[in-house]
Amino acid sequence: MTIRVYNTLTKQKEPFETVAPAKVGIYLCGPTVYKESHIGHMVGPVIFDTIKRYLVYNGYEVHWVVNITDVDDKLIAQQHERGVPMSAIAEEMTIDYLNNLRALGVDQIDRMPKATEHIDGIIRFTQALIDKGYAYASGGDVFFDVLKDPGYGKLSNRRPDEQQGEGGGAASKKRSPGDFALWKSAKPGEPAWNSPWGQGRPGWHIECSAMSKAILGETFDIHGGGLDLVFPHHENELAQSECCHGKPMVKYWLHNGLLRKGDDAGKIGGRSDRESPGGKLSRSAGAGGLADVIAAQGGERIRFFLLKTHYRSTVVYGDEGLDEAAGNLETFYRFFERFQRMTGQRFFNLPAANTREAGNVEAASEPLSKVVRQLRASFLEKMDDDFNTGGAIGDLFELVRELNRHADQSRLEEVGNVKDPRIVGFVEATRVLRELSNILGLFRSTPAQRGGAAEGVVPKLMDLLIDLRKEAREKKDFFTGDKIRNALAQMNIMLEDRKGGATEWRMGGPS
Ligand SMILES: [Zn+2]
Repeated sequence: MTIRVYNTLTKQKEPFETVAPAKVGIYLCGPTVYKESHIGHMVGPVIFDTIKRYLVYNGYEVHWVVNITDVDDKLIAQQHERGVPMSAIAEEMTIDYLNNLRALGVDQIDRMPKATEHIDGIIRFTQALIDKGYAYASGGDVFFDVLKDPGYGKLSNRRPDEQQGEGGGAASKKRSPGDFALWKSAKPGEPAWNSPWGQGRPGWHIECSAMSKAILGETFDIHGGGLDLVFPHHENELAQSECCHGKPMVKYWLHNGLLRKGDDAGKIGGRSDRESPGGKLSRSAGAGGLADVIAAQGGERIRFFLLKTHYRSTVVYGDEGLDEAAGNLETFYRFFERFQRMTGQRFFNLPAANTREAGNVEAASEPLSKVVRQLRASFLEKMDDDFNTGGAIGDLFELVRELNRHADQSRLEEVGNVKDPRIVGFVEATRVLRELSNILGLFRSTPAQRGGAAEGVVPKLMDLLIDLRKEAREKKDFFTGDKIRNALAQMNIMLEDRKGGATEWRMGGPS
């Protein structure tokens, strides 16, 4: 067993060997929290959540960092537009992001550093680059001098003069057009910190270099992000870190494909296109915010849908794919119900091996055990091969099919005694399904708890709450009325009173 990963830096699959024995540091570029997240922002978190699960399963101690960019030109633009402080906008959108992660079962992140908590480290990093001759201060800004770095362009295969660097408006302050800003001087009214170069704020790229160094060290194992981050963001991170430290920043650069709407060619979810999808997407597939999609589809369906595609491929997103995922999941949910009828046990409570070693059990002689062991080996082989989750899901399907076939042939429904060896053997075999689905972060609780199957219940509960609030207000009990409204707002559910007395509700922030 060797895990192999595709490294953007070398353009090939390489055996996975860690910097320190049995330890893995992963850094994934997180969101700029100026707007509600949409489904495209979830592709990276879902795949890296799965990658971490798989590495832990393989015995590694994994430390996964996702940063939050809470100071940025876009946030400042929002501050001006909304008249709300940047920090309040960042906090609101971070909560939205965290809610979405939770709904999609992304719960493996160890640290979420914020750029504004690392200003000192960013300033020190910038100063070090100036001291080493790789950066220069110019009119209150500091720029990285791309022509000083002979390695510049090795990640994205671009020459330094091919692209205008960040801080295009400050072109006159730069030595060459490809130079990018490490520090930006503040205009009046903009959020700013003291620095040796005057009041200002960090550039975007330097944040990630400073935070990954602070938390994971100068050289760490995996750096992830969407394909659209290869240039300029990751190229610049790499240049900053390697010029500062004189050693490789990252062993493996992993990039996930972007999301594309099923019915046209526009990608969504890239850093450069952070607008809500809108347009041709139906409501169920996300014409509204991600919270709407999750309310309609359930987080597990979205996670499953994303994992069906290999992470390096483009995810084609729309109703068709989501409907297919829903149908696929039904096969599993029906099996879980059947399993409970036959064995008296809930699938979700089944104990299962949580390491590869613990799960390496010799196949027993009966055919079911053999085929289950074969499918487990096949699943792990797919995951070893650059985390091929789509192929691994195919093996899970096969596994359920075999379990169902065995239950049919052996007429397990008629056994009626959970201590019967046939049932005991069947439970053993099903534990492998639990073991493997845990790796993908799937089927960790009942569908009702996941929200998907509760679809029909939510509108009824909402009608009830709206009625109770109406009655309270009619009795001039505004305290209770407001309590209901505020408690719902905390859950990101907004009530809107219409003319004529009707009240409507919707998921998501204030319109
Ligand atoms: Zn980054």
